[in-house]
Amino acid sequence: MRVAKVVGMLMCVILLTALLPEEVFAAPNTSSPYYLGWDLVDSGLHCDWGGSTKYSAQWNNAVSIWNSMGVVSIRKDTIFTVQDVELYDYYEVSSITAVTYSSGKIGFNTYNLDNCTSDEITNTAAHELGHALGIKHLSAGNIMYPYQTSQTWLGNGDRTAYNDIWK
Ligand SMILES: [Zn+2]
Repeated sequence: MRVAKVVGMLMCVILLTALLPEEVFAAPNTSSPYYLGWDLVDSGLHCDWGGSTKYSAQWNNAVSIWNSMGVVSIRKDTIFTVQDVELYDYYEVSSITAVTYSSGKIGFNTYNLDNCTSDEITNTAAHELGHALGIKHLSAGNIMYPYQTSQTWLGNGDRTAYNDIWK
């Protein structure tokens, strides 16, 4: 009887381990070659953004572009959530269009962006949001290409990098 009980308990432990879905432990794959070394996604797989930018229409486009990938939920911050990302606009005479810091700040340089098309601004917003998701720079044909283009859709490289880090 005693032996049977012990065997039964062991079986339970093994079964529980086998039944736990991998997603329970979902976290960025920090050993991915595409991983920046940091991301702005919380442990609940949300990226809650606050702050503001005059390019909110293009920011919302960028949010939709990345939310279509399905793992990380990029949402507007509310009083019930902890802000992960803060948007702001700044003016600086330089060639930089926007910047993302590991602290969670995403800045848009109005000096350059005020002279860009809506698609170019969407491209820049999606690029910065890609960094917030922990994705490194990629080759041409991708949102994560380090130079602004008018591309407003994810390239194969963008999808591969996202899936490697988050799926
Ligand atoms: Zn970049």
